[in-house]
Amino acid sequence: MMLRREFLLGTLCLFLPSYSFANSDKVLIIPGHDKHTIGTYRKGIGAEYELTLKISNILYTKLNGLEKTIARQENYIEEIEHFRKNNYLWLKDTVINARNSFVEERGNREITLKIKSAVDSYAVVAWAHENKFSCMVNVHVNDARKKDRYQGFTIITSNENKGFKKSRLLAESIYSSLKKEFEPSNNPAETKGFMVVNTILMLGTKYLKNSIPSVIVECGYIGQDYNGKKINDPEIQNKYAALISKGIESYFSSNASQVTL
Ligand SMILES: [Zn+2]
Repeated sequence: MMLRREFLLGTLCLFLPSYSFANSDKVLIIPGHDKHTIGTYRKGIGAEYELTLKISNILYTKLNGLEKTIARQENYIEEIEHFRKNNYLWLKDTVINARNSFVEERGNREITLKIKSAVDSYAVVAWAHENKFSCMVNVHVNDARKKDRYQGFTIITSNENKGFKKSRLLAESIYSSLKKEFEPSNNPAETKGFMVVNTILMLGTKYLKNSIPSVIVECGYIGQDYNGKKINDPEIQNKYAALISKGIESYFSSNASQVTL
């Protein structure tokens, strides 16, 4: 298993005069889902957890001048696995509390998170928090119940995250970068591809006390057509990764990341 981590080289700034990244800027890239949860799947295109890994790995190589970590390859990186094992009990308690409050508030008993998967996800968030990451970028691919009815990318943030102000700035930055090449979602529920939600575990919630700016990027719909190409095509993945990385870089270089919460 590979632990991929790179640190900002002081000399790199000499070649990037317009950027002013702080030494402490650390980005956590989280490829959505894993081999247990899989995510969405489409025959002939693939499973979401594999597609998100491919886009995330390209994003990792494209992201310049920032310290960066990718949360998993096939498995989560050792540091995260280790953290989850050592903190399992309180992580599980927190997840159960969050779920209970959620069900209580919304009165929707249909919503049942699988505890193990939820703990796996939350371990990443809690680990990022403990290791003082500057932001988390969750990479996903969307799907709709009525197949191929919708298309376009969506950026999601949570207003329950204590870092919401920064999350929104990060989301806006990635949104305007993606919009240069891709159409935002035409699904009315996704409000023109820019969504603010309450509770999503990976974005942090008031129960989970997460304050790291965090966004979910839905890289279009899994069945979406890009002039004959699909999301499993390296060219499309490359385009998404390049634009997301530009969005992250301009969030940091514009000092949006320095906004006081
Ligand atoms: Zn997903």
